[in-house]
Amino acid sequence: MRARLIDGKAFAAGLVERVAAAAARLEAAHGIKPGLAVVIVGEDPASQIYVRNKGETTARAGMRSDTHRLAETTTQAELLALIAQLNADAGIHGILVQLPLPIHIDSAAVLGAIDPDKDVDGFHVVNAGRLAVGLPGLVPCTPLGSVMLLKEALSELSGLNAVIVGRSNIVGKPMAQLLLAENCTVTVAHSRSRDLPALCRAADILVAAAGRPEMIRGDWIKPGATVIDVGINRVPSADPVKAAEGKTRVVGDVALAEAVEMAGAITPVPGGVGPMTIACLLANTYTAACRAAGVEPETLAG
Ligand code: NDP
Repeated sequence: MRARLIDGKAFAAGLVERVAAAAARLEAAHGIKPGLAVVIVGEDPASQIYVRNKGETTARAGMRSDTHRLAETTTQAELLALIAQLNADAGIHGILVQLPLPIHIDSAAVLGAIDPDKDVDGFHVVNAGRLAVGLPGLVPCTPLGSVMLLKEALSELSGLNAVIVGRSNIVGKPMAQLLLAENCTVTVAHSRSRDLPALCRAADILVAAAGRPEMIRGDWIKPGATVIDVGINRVPSADPVKAAEGKTRVVGDVALAEAVEMAGAITPVPGGVGPMTIACLLANTYTAACRAAGVEPETLAG
């Protein structure tokens, strides 16, 4: 068997277009332009790139995009004051604080200070609770995008065995909640799980979110399974000369070349789940703007 590659890049581009069109209709009908504020503290180069991408994509979708760049020396009180100001700003519907924050700042306190209805990352405990009990809230972007790709790959999720490798608050746990809501039978594996290969082999849907490069091998995959590889791991280049020069490449948590021989469909890394994260951030900002205005959001999933 040779798996179909699920093209997350193309799906994400389509989602951004749908969000842009829906946001334009919201503005035309109700005079509301969805607004996203991204806050970055310090000079971490990777974070700077993520924040620039988020700002540019938001603006391209015709939405308001504000970036607040704060010095590394910013105090927690100063950051909390900015969050309070953004919470009170009616033109801002989504607030995202880029992680990691400098070590002198308590990240949990900062994330907890964001108005849950503007928490477009979906990390606030109120949104985690809403997801757990099935209330409308804001869902973390990476699991939300992963489920959209699954629904694109499979006509029906109900009754399927889903195994998620990883139990983090931002990927594994919300993914489990979303798949339960889709009527999957869900197993969440982690570093203490026994016989992980056997657990994985029982999966119709296998979600890899462990942050371990190419840990999941081809013979861990049930023939025909749908595999969502959330992992983003930087490893030395496969070319020894380039590796010696310090060149790197990005791989997932799944050994892709082996997995394509077993799976029915799989998200590649790069070009699978990764591009969905920013697209879902825009979708969440649009949803938050609609709810703030008391307007029913349009269906965006595609
Ligand atoms: P965390 O490090 O927070 O969590 C990793 C999870 O994997 C933990 O639950 C851990 O178990 C489990 N785990 C680690 N090693 C093993 C192992 N050998 N066997 C079984 N389980 C294991 O990572 P995140 O959830 O934040 O991210 C996971 C991956 O997804 C990373 O590669 C990250 O870069 C990527 N990512 C990608 C995003 C995207 O946009 N596509 C967004 C967010 C993350 P335990 O709890 O027991 O320690």
